Amino acid sequence: MQKKWLALMMLIAALAVVRGAVAQTGNSSTAEAVPAASATTLTAAFPEFIPVVCYHRFGHYGAKDPYFVTPEELKQQFEIIKSEGFTPITTAALKAGLDGTKPFPEKPLLITIDDGYADFVNIAQPIFKEYGYTATLFVYIHFIDSKMGLSHGQLQQLEKDGFEIGSHSWTHPKLTKPTPAEAAKGMAAFYQAELNAPYQKLKEWLGHDIIALAYPYGLWDTDSAKAAQEAGYQLMFTVDQGTNNAATPREQLKRIMIVHKTSDKMFRYLINDRPLKLASRTLEPGQHITGPVESVTLTIDPEQSRELDPKSWVILKGGIKCKSAYDAAQQKIIATFAQPWTHGTDAVMVVARDKAQQKHYKETWLVHVAPPVPEGGK
Ligand SMILES: [Zn+2]
Repeated sequence: MQKKWLALMMLIAALAVVRGAVAQTGNSSTAEAVPAASATTLTAAFPEFIPVVCYHRFGHYGAKDPYFVTPEELKQQFEIIKSEGFTPITTAALKAGLDGTKPFPEKPLLITIDDGYADFVNIAQPIFKEYGYTATLFVYIHFIDSKMGLSHGQLQQLEKDGFEIGSHSWTHPKLTKPTPAEAAKGMAAFYQAELNAPYQKLKEWLGHDIIALAYPYGLWDTDSAKAAQEAGYQLMFTVDQGTNNAATPREQLKRIMIVHKTSDKMFRYLINDRPLKLASRTLEPGQHITGPVESVTLTIDPEQSRELDPKSWVILKGGIKCKSAYDAAQQKIIATFAQPWTHGTDAVMVVARDKAQQKHYKETWLVHVAPPVPEGGK
């Protein structure tokens, strides 16, 4: 049983690091705390967890590019969404639910599609129509009206058809690591070009404020999250793996990346992850630190931990399992990385199960480690 569980974890971790799409996620309760809903009915109905799935392309090219999901796979995954009782909603409905202005359906779920490839309209949209499902398309402006991208007229039509458009920057840069050319005019100008300008362009095309941003490559840090808030976005989506609840910071919303050959079992598993709460952690979400870092110390949330199997904790860094020591008295876990973390961006993922072996909990977050400054260096 333990072995099987671990095998599944490793598989999930592998899925998480598919191609350059850096990592998965985590939450914490930094920054903008989500106000507790005051309406009692709404509080009672607040969903235990909200999964957000993330697709890119549709078609039969998965062998060459795992970001292509076939129409058959998409249909099968919609069958799972339906049989698990989820109702797809838009980011506008997510915001209204979080704000407490409109109640959630019983089991909300979001379907998002990144980049803005025209294959959405040709291949996926008829399947969405068949199921009556909505989605949010995160598009980057530079790609729109290009040969393989949707046209801005199609974006307008998609909104008329009940879909929603969100921003995915202007040129799809790494917001956490601009190239020297991108950084040349300073970070304020970089954020202005990649966060504010696409907001304004989409607003011009669509005629309304834009609610959501998906960070290109899922790469985010505390600075880009702040810049996105200042640009006017209200919900920011990562690809940090896991699901969301009322405590998930709105600039760190988690998503589940779906690629070619994601098994039915895996898909069902991922959309049923529960958010794992940590009381504290020594590496904070979106933080930049100087390496080397050898371990992370986690303090477990005392209330949630009562439900959890103390033998079930698994901590992964960049998809690789850490050696971890659980201190029951202190409610602490010290996870030591397989190799000292000297530089680079990676996801830290923490997973646990409940004692009844019914539910699984996950927290994932990105940390950016800079190389150590050489001693007596320049
Ligand atoms: Zn993208």
